[in-house]
Amino acid sequence: MKNKGSIIILSGPSGAGKNTVFDELVKKSDNIVQTVSVTTRNPRVGERDGVDYYFVSVEKFEELIEKDSFIEYVKYGDNYYGTLKSEIDRLTADGKTVILVIEVNGAANIKKCIPESTSVFIVPPSVEELRNRIVSRGQNTESEVESRISIALNEMTYKDNYDYCVVNDDLETCVNNIFEIINSI
Ligand code: 5GP
Repeated sequence: MKNKGSIIILSGPSGAGKNTVFDELVKKSDNIVQTVSVTTRNPRVGERDGVDYYFVSVEKFEELIEKDSFIEYVKYGDNYYGTLKSEIDRLTADGKTVILVIEVNGAANIKKCIPESTSVFIVPPSVEELRNRIVSRGQNTESEVESRISIALNEMTYKDNYDYCVVNDDLETCVNNIFEIINSI
């Protein structure tokens, strides 16, 4: 039996660059993998079912809640997002470094259920830059953008609850800092 892998929670406000940071971390090690979450939101252009998310209907998501399939789930904006217990079990059993890229409430819940996990909060360089990043995705309506910005500002207040805080000003530096954290566990 292989060693059980470690669990890293990568969190922070929308627009902090969590997914970009994750994509760079994967390039540094074959042992780093991400759990695929379940969501009820519509796929964005280029997103693939089973790769970026498992895209499901609200009915299906609620069925999974009923079956106690999630280690954590949240309603974020108008949509549900959740992490399947089966995803964590499958990936940690293989001795991988398992990264969960999730928002702050889910992060707090995971830390409660899995205290030995390591939580990292990614901080955007400024509120202005955070706004630019959310707007420049170009895939949200004006009211969705405003809603995401106000959620993001609230999310910033959670940063002291994390094991580590890393500023994503320069992407390479941010990724190297998080990679060092992972290697030190
Ligand atoms: P987006 O719609 O931009 O893909 O995701 C919205 C937010 O939900 C992001 O902060 C993302 O990290 C978070 N998120 C994605 N999957 C999960 C999940 O399984 N659980 C929780 N709690 N948040 C998630």
